[in-house]
Amino acid sequence: NDVILEVKNLKKYFPITGSLNNTVSQVKAVNDVSFSLIKGETYGLVGESGCGKSTTGRTILRLLEPTEGEVIYDGQNINKLKGNDLRNIRRELQMVFQDPYSSLNPRKRVGTILEETLKIHKMGNKKERTEQVMNILNKVGFQREHYYRFPHEFSGGQRQRIGLARALIINPSIIICDEPVSALDVSIQSQVLNLLEDIQQEFNLTYLFISHDLGVVRHISDRIGVMYLGKLVEESPTDELYTNPLHPYTKALLSAIPVPNPFVKREKIKLIGEIPSPVNPPSGCVFHTRCPFAMDVCKQDEPIMKTLDLEHKVACHLY
Ligand code: SF4
Ligand code: MG
Repeated sequence: NDVILEVKNLKKYFPITGSLNNTVSQVKAVNDVSFSLIKGETYGLVGESGCGKSTTGRTILRLLEPTEGEVIYDGQNINKLKGNDLRNIRRELQMVFQDPYSSLNPRKRVGTILEETLKIHKMGNKKERTEQVMNILNKVGFQREHYYRFPHEFSGGQRQRIGLARALIINPSIIICDEPVSALDVSIQSQVLNLLEDIQQEFNLTYLFISHDLGVVRHISDRIGVMYLGKLVEESPTDELYTNPLHPYTKALLSAIPVPNPFVKREKIKLIGEIPSPVNPPSGCVFHTRCPFAMDVCKQDEPIMKTLDLEHKVACHLY
């Protein structure tokens, strides 16, 4: 397998200063996460809101500075890069956000906005840049006339295609998509997902696809990682995960959505209690306060990720 990006023991803690005795505590948003992306695949990162999946994506790109850990791309640890080296790596790793509209200057034409991205990266002369913008707009399904339109003249799905064009235009290897279709109507969602798949083929891209929506992630991912309270608790090829979920948390998430094959009997698990605070995550297994199978050992020892059959990995004392 051809690994393109390796995330090793990544941590992102946010300090919070309390007024009480000036105590300083930390939100452990990403708490020792490791996984790899294989060239050309889509890796889905799922979990409920607040589990740390978006923070993981942003920390990989160093839009947020990591607290600890390594992110290896092309033999280099991104977390150690500065200045030009960091800028060069940023050309290879791009991000598509849930709502691209907020980052599009309302007073500029879409063509100008896209061209500015090329300028920042010092790519091409004026004529080449215009050509490249027209070309990319075309790839995401627009015509020449759209170059001259303003962001407000586009619908939600169209704006998401502009966001994708802006990521694509500097020819990256990896795109991190953070909830790219969550704000869209279901009918528009599948159009954008299909476009993402076509673009991936054509441009030879690797995706890290972040979403809370298990249906969407299933549609687009080759492999899936499940996050809970800042930890990766399970990782598996997509079909295997949906037919044979192992971690009790994954089983609980899947219990809430319809079974794809009615002949496959899936254990139903209901989540009890609230998600604990990431300031004070539970000892041992972070899921033990809500797990119907919790044993004594779960309160003391943190389960390590084990690889079982079919590249299926799980961090749980049951296995
Ligand atoms: Fe449940 Fe224990 Fe497994 Fe955690 S390690 S998911 S508490 S059985
Ligand atoms: Mg998020």
